[in-house]
Amino acid sequence: MRLSQAFLPTLKEDPADAELVSHKLMIRAGMMRKHAAGIYSLLPLGWRVTRKVAQIVREEMDRAGAQEVLLPVLMPAELWQESGRWQNIGKELFRQRDRGDRDYVLGPTHEEAVTDIVRNHVRSYRDLPQNLYQIGVKFRDEVRPRFGLMRAREFIMKDAYSFHVDDTSLADTYEQMREAYTRIFTRCGLHFTMVEADSGAIGGDVNHEFMVTADSGESQVFASACGYAASSERAAFAWTPRPAEPEASREERSTPDQRTVEEVAAFLGVGPDRLLKSLLFYAGEEPLLAVIPGDRELNEAKLAQQVGGAPLRLATAGEIEAITGGPLGFTGPVGLAGKIRMIGDTTLQEGRNYVTGGNKRDVHLLNVRLGRDATIEERADLVTAKEGDQCPRCGEVMQVSRGIEVGHIFKLGCKYSEAMGAHYLDAEGKEHPIVMGCYGIGVTRIVAAAIEQSNDANGIIWPMPIAPYHVHIVPVNAKEPTTRETAEALYAALTEASLEVLFDDRDERPGTKFKDADLIGVPLRVTIGEKGLAEGIVELRDRRTGVVDRVPVGEASDAVRTRVEAALRTSS
Ligand code: ATP
Ligand code: MG
Repeated sequence: MRLSQAFLPTLKEDPADAELVSHKLMIRAGMMRKHAAGIYSLLPLGWRVTRKVAQIVREEMDRAGAQEVLLPVLMPAELWQESGRWQNIGKELFRQRDRGDRDYVLGPTHEEAVTDIVRNHVRSYRDLPQNLYQIGVKFRDEVRPRFGLMRAREFIMKDAYSFHVDDTSLADTYEQMREAYTRIFTRCGLHFTMVEADSGAIGGDVNHEFMVTADSGESQVFASACGYAASSERAAFAWTPRPAEPEASREERSTPDQRTVEEVAAFLGVGPDRLLKSLLFYAGEEPLLAVIPGDRELNEAKLAQQVGGAPLRLATAGEIEAITGGPLGFTGPVGLAGKIRMIGDTTLQEGRNYVTGGNKRDVHLLNVRLGRDATIEERADLVTAKEGDQCPRCGEVMQVSRGIEVGHIFKLGCKYSEAMGAHYLDAEGKEHPIVMGCYGIGVTRIVAAAIEQSNDANGIIWPMPIAPYHVHIVPVNAKEPTTRETAEALYAALTEASLEVLFDDRDERPGTKFKDADLIGVPLRVTIGEKGLAEGIVELRDRRTGVVDRVPVGEASDAVRTRVEAALRTSS
């Protein structure tokens, strides 16, 4: 591509609304433009990179035996009502009405559509397993669309869905997908880890996320040397019970205006771990009280998992008063058994004397003993792991790092097949629900993640396999005849050799050209200048290392080819 003809609008200044380096650089390098929050057009450079990522994904999915399809973005609401997600997803789901007042969904994923096809065409165990995937546009009305393509409202995902007779067959495909994902992210030139994850509104229990390591990542990862790795939504931790305490009688204490754990602990002169934090939620229509240690944070993903994935919201002050009889800040489990579903964190102990809200204004209770003063039978891990926590497997202190989630694989089980009636007949003619798995990759998020992981003060540094071009030719002075001829000849030779070449044939100052080249980030640059040519050489510059090799003009084409091919090979 000749830069003089390219639609490649680079900018000198960072866009005002961009926080992440990848977002800034994608705008500045002319890869994309914004229309509204979370809605972008990909310009030629951005689309080239996206297509390269998609092609790697496609090759590896095909290699793993999955078959590509294209499912509709616009889907009838009935399918979503059948699966229950019309009710469960809430505001993140883009809903649409047609001229006949029928409801539709703009797909955030495609379990419903693909299950609808499979239930109509798979009859027997002989038709299984199947693994269907697509690479297409998804819509999600994110609460906070931000960071450019990282969290957009319209984005490109690869989503695959597998169908099986049983868990063993699902486990085989899950393993194949795990391997395919590892190959995909490796080939894209990314540093990543696979972690145990939360399954959110999609459902199912066993699942893993692939996290690209980056300090700017929205996800927190807990990992230890034994190989345990989990996202903060899921991470468990080892805990040792504290010694039992002598029983003491329950006391009411006046705590005027002391509402938060910090306030009450300071007021009473006790540690926050002495307190119970009681939080009133609604899971759909059902109110429930989550009770956790005062020195811990409630993990909403874990709570949602415990209540079957129903959308959660914190109760309002009015609702708290109506249910507990006390105002916000003074809630506790005493007296609520039988009135409301109570779930206690697994680390709560019967043998301790806790401080809790008294369900009365300005009152806390001291020496509350679980089992004696309040019975909480339902227990679950409800809290978020924190810095310094020990690994649930090996007991070592876990490392905490940040990551960008680029892929997610789930064992779905029969959630969708049961809800939507997707069955098969076994060899004896008996009917069973089809066992499912699903596997997502954020294709456009990978583009942003790759930049987040690989850039410097001057711009992007592309890994060769997803670089928009393999090589960038910069004639220092495009008007000077020898320079021009040499550059044109090299451009022709490399293009002829099927390399992807960006050729800066513009009549611009060398400084401007070098700046643009660094910003765009093509891995290899060939600089052709009068001085070098007088000595019979051109310069090959590595974008990542900055190392410059002087190469005889006649060998330039071969040298570039060798280096590009080597860089492509090492990553595949
Ligand atoms: P997140 O926790 O980041 O919201 P998710 O759990 O909702 O992600 P999935 O439903 O598993 O994501 O979707 C599969 C993949 O699609 C994710 O791993 C991610 O790479 C990508 N993805 C999800 N939401 C977005 C978004 N708003 N913008 C861009 N990519 C996204
Ligand atoms: Mg999400």
